[in-house]
Amino acid sequence: MTLSIRLNKLISWFDSSQISVAENTSEAIDWLRVIPFILMHLACLLVFVVGWSPVVLWVALFSYLIRMFAITAFYHRYFSHKAFKTGRICQFIFALIGATSTQRGPIWWASHHRRHHRFSDTDQDIHSPIHGFLWSHMGWFLCLKNFTTRENCVRDLLKFPELRWLDRYDIAIPVVYAFALLGVGKLLEVYAPELQVTGGQMVVWGYFVSTIVLIHCTLCVNSLAHVWGTKRYATNDSSRNNALLALLTLGEGWHNNHHHYPVSARQGFFWWELDISYYLLKAMAALGLVWDLQPVPRERLTLNLIERK
Ligand SMILES: [Zn+2]
Ligand SMILES: [Zn+2]
Repeated sequence: MTLSIRLNKLISWFDSSQISVAENTSEAIDWLRVIPFILMHLACLLVFVVGWSPVVLWVALFSYLIRMFAITAFYHRYFSHKAFKTGRICQFIFALIGATSTQRGPIWWASHHRRHHRFSDTDQDIHSPIHGFLWSHMGWFLCLKNFTTRENCVRDLLKFPELRWLDRYDIAIPVVYAFALLGVGKLLEVYAPELQVTGGQMVVWGYFVSTIVLIHCTLCVNSLAHVWGTKRYATNDSSRNNALLALLTLGEGWHNNHHHYPVSARQGFFWWELDISYYLLKAMAALGLVWDLQPVPRERLTLNLIERK
């Protein structure tokens, strides 16, 4: 590898436009890009250094939930599937919250996800477990091949310059978020010492632990939700419904339902299928923040049902 390519790869951590589509062919694990991903996991071990306090555990939980909602309701159901409508400001706010999840920008995320639906569990599906479980979980985005956005899949999103900025400088927002948590923790150290919160705790629990759990729960929808669970509908893929994953991902675990009818705003098709993202979207719709939530047509609920013996 020449020095200039190495340099480009390092710069690509700050400006993702540095890697061009032409270079985008290798399926080998790209260690220069992977190292920060590994360091984020190791940073979670700092909980043994900074300790904990009740307040930071609540912060970590809230940090997980609000960002999981931004990923499931907006990165997935809105940007990838157009399952409802919203205004440009609301679109940007949830793109911004989604961007703190360190799962890259909304356009990159949607482009690969749309491709997943187009080629589900075939040779051309970039993260199918048919290529290996670990590959479907995280190998696919740790190689150079899938680093760039597949622009032909997301022409509708490319027209928003603010979303393109989030995509190009995709590490900027997570860094700002981590430093903001550090800053709030430092202020609490000084002004509310009785809470026993430190800046270190806020950044380790609120950012690193919360983000790593969030990333792996999201990735489980690509990996586990295609191998573990039940199938209600005969789809052309191995998607499954999994109640535990649905709980952890605020509704995304009803993945067989989702592959059966991807444009629906709800993935839990029945009242007993917990879909917290959908309930929150209904609440946002009541406030006028989102609208035109796509329902599941009644005939779709019973189409292609797999008969149970
Ligand atoms: Zn899938
Ligand atoms: Zn989808």
